[in-house]
Amino acid sequence: MKVLLLGKNGQVGWELQRSLAPLGELIALGRGVSEGGLKGDLTDLGALRATIRHVKPDVIVNAAAYNGVDKAESDSDLAFLVNAQASKVMAEEAKSLDALLVHYSTDYVFSGQGVSPWREGDSAVPVNQYGLSKLEGERAIIASGCRHLIFRTSWVYSTWGNNFAKTMLRLARERESLSVIFDQVGAPTGSDLIADVTAHAILQVQKSPQLCGIYHLVAAGEVSWHGYASHVIEFARNRGETVMVKTVEPIESSAYPTPARRPLNSRLNTAKLRNNFSLHLPDWQSGVNRMLMEVFNK
Ligand code: NDP
Repeated sequence: MKVLLLGKNGQVGWELQRSLAPLGELIALGRGVSEGGLKGDLTDLGALRATIRHVKPDVIVNAAAYNGVDKAESDSDLAFLVNAQASKVMAEEAKSLDALLVHYSTDYVFSGQGVSPWREGDSAVPVNQYGLSKLEGERAIIASGCRHLIFRTSWVYSTWGNNFAKTMLRLARERESLSVIFDQVGAPTGSDLIADVTAHAILQVQKSPQLCGIYHLVAAGEVSWHGYASHVIEFARNRGETVMVKTVEPIESSAYPTPARRPLNSRLNTAKLRNNFSLHLPDWQSGVNRMLMEVFNK
């Protein structure tokens, strides 16, 4: 199996380089030009098309995205180019090659109303430009008629680079009090889990193409950003790390204005994924704890 991975240097892309390697020949591209002269920049649609036609992959995995949620409000042309138009090009090329396209989307396609975990077929009404651009990407892929797997995920973290948990650890060392949003609820999801499930699902759909479609892929359980921050700080305290912070105050989203509105209810129902692929998804705490152990042991 020949796999073309786009966005190899992102949180999910990095883990995919590991999880996809056993599937066959893996050609992994970042934003720049590869050693073999292949271009993985999603803003150059002609070059993207040429790359796919040259590689002729059996599977295209798109881990690249414009993820600047706040920046997308003032830079929506670029967000739509990367998240929607480039996805359309990949889908058209996948269709003509009869390749499988694997793509990632977000809880931000939903309005955030209510408290029920969103199902795949629920009406998607994004509240910001990033969500709109990701939804347009999903729709272009589905409309193309290519075989696809679209995984909507949320609150992605990885061990390297910056993430919410590391920011909270740093602030907890520096300050006596923190204010963290309590009215946005979702599931922190590790990029390693996403990558492992992706590899498993690719193998399954080769045997059972009827499993193609859109899926919600997040760790089990739910938590607010405030609960997530409190968990991280407690974990550090229990390990004997230096923690200055005494209070973690819960605040409403409205007390922390940002250019882009965020959905309050980011819960995603994963029953379809678990049932169709016979998967058990670990609770969010186990992945976060493992990431924290790696951070502390560095
Ligand atoms: P990252 O931001 O870690 O990685 C995104 C990658 O896309 C980066 O490597 C970046 O390249 C690359 N990229 C951005 N613009 C371009 C471009 N024009 N051409 C080529 N590559 C580009 O994202 P994640 O790994 O966290 O996200 C993976 C998927 O999951 C995305 O589809 C995202 O929308 C989705 N998702 C992510 C969430 C999160 O919390 N992060 C939440 C929900 C969904 P470079 O390194 O050069 O900047």
